[in-house]
Amino acid sequence: MQFDTIAAISTPMGEGAIAIVRLSGDEAIQIADTIFHSPGGKSLAKVDSHTIHYGNLIDPNTKEIVEEVMASVMKAPKTFTREDVVEINCHGGIVAVNRVLGLLLREGARLAEPGEFTKRAFLNGRIDLSQAEAVMDLIRAKTDRAMDVALNQMEGKLSRLIGELRLALVETLAEVEVKIDYPEYDDVEEMTVPLMIEKSMWVREEIDKLLLTSSQGKILREGLSTVIIGRPNVGKSSLLNSLVQENKAIVTEIAGTTRDIIEEYVNIRGVPLRLVDTAGIRETEDIVERIGVERSRKVLKEADLILLVLNGSEELLVEDERLFEAVSGMDLIVVINKTDLPQKINMQRVLELTGVDKVVTTSLLIDEGVTELEEAIAELFFEGNLESNDLTYVSNARHIALLHQARATIDEALGAAELGVPIDMILIDVTRTWEILGEIIGDTVQESLLNELFSRFCLGK
Ligand code: GDP
Ligand code: ZN
Repeated sequence: MQFDTIAAISTPMGEGAIAIVRLSGDEAIQIADTIFHSPGGKSLAKVDSHTIHYGNLIDPNTKEIVEEVMASVMKAPKTFTREDVVEINCHGGIVAVNRVLGLLLREGARLAEPGEFTKRAFLNGRIDLSQAEAVMDLIRAKTDRAMDVALNQMEGKLSRLIGELRLALVETLAEVEVKIDYPEYDDVEEMTVPLMIEKSMWVREEIDKLLLTSSQGKILREGLSTVIIGRPNVGKSSLLNSLVQENKAIVTEIAGTTRDIIEEYVNIRGVPLRLVDTAGIRETEDIVERIGVERSRKVLKEADLILLVLNGSEELLVEDERLFEAVSGMDLIVVINKTDLPQKINMQRVLELTGVDKVVTTSLLIDEGVTELEEAIAELFFEGNLESNDLTYVSNARHIALLHQARATIDEALGAAELGVPIDMILIDVTRTWEILGEIIGDTVQESLLNELFSRFCLGK
């Protein structure tokens, strides 16, 4: 395909000492060459592909040196976009980088739209749509594990799986069509329906497996919403601080000085947590009343995980027990804090009332037990759900929605087959399933959807 040459700053604005301006398109090398001057007078048009060159950028109008740069030349098709690509590494700040970009635009490049580089990679057949989206996830990946998911997807694992499902469907369709087309078979239905049912059931099962992993995928990108609750002064803020290893939340001797709900994003052994310290709501108020506050109720309801903190140096209070009730049925880790002090808590009763089979004990004052807590969190999350080497799961909302659609459609086909609906009718649903699955990898996707998708990418990617 033929496109104009686009340019954009492809490193985050203001971050890092080096900024990269990327050019892609047929004229990428030529445009860069008009402003690039190597000390030896070498032209970028004559260099080998995938080489890096030192030189100055000179404004052709004023003959003024704009920047000292390293320019990488990468020729099609072995580039991300499958077009000629030049990357100009500048070490100046935002002003300098913008000047470089401005020069390139003046010399004939067009400012890239958000996601346009990735869009080209897709349009030029370098990657399929789910891989393109994985690039977007990669850009946004907040933790290593989320990064792994994105990478795996990019490598096409999901694409391959979807491809297999579609192949099974299309083969079935073909086989059924052939039988319908040969009238010498006297009972077409009897021969084709069982085959259709068998294949459709397999596809439905595989979709279900993928969907099972999808809630996990969602958590991996957004962070497991984790709420720290407990009576005033048991050590909630201290716990938040320990986990965050920064001192953003205020820890104090006087109950009730932490004012707002505090949220922190942490990565615990590959599990991203969005930690919420409810302590901020109003620690001076009665805890039951506090839990009654609409806001904390909502926070609790939306939580994926509860860290319930108790003070081991005090007996269990009725307020603690109310909390046990409030969180019953939720994923819960009970933390008994202040183990450095003489212990008064009735551990047996804690186990009985909360229904957990073990508790984590900590002394946040002397920094003990935090490692064990982190292990407990990771264990709870990965328990039987994730194999570290098998991360093919779906983490993209569009993919999840399409998988649900595909599942509903294949389900309809199966329902119709059972009701004895004529085979031609069933084929419509099977074909539709094949189409929907194709949308995940961008095979049957509409142009407008494409534009919408790619405009969500970061600029310069
Ligand atoms: P919150 O009200 O539940 O958020 O509790 P804070 O984290 O603000 O802690 C209340 C008080 O308990 C502070 O003075 C902390 O220093 C103290 N504290 C926290 N953890 C421990 C611990 O493990 N042992 C002891 N002795 N004091 C602690
Ligand atoms: Zn607090």
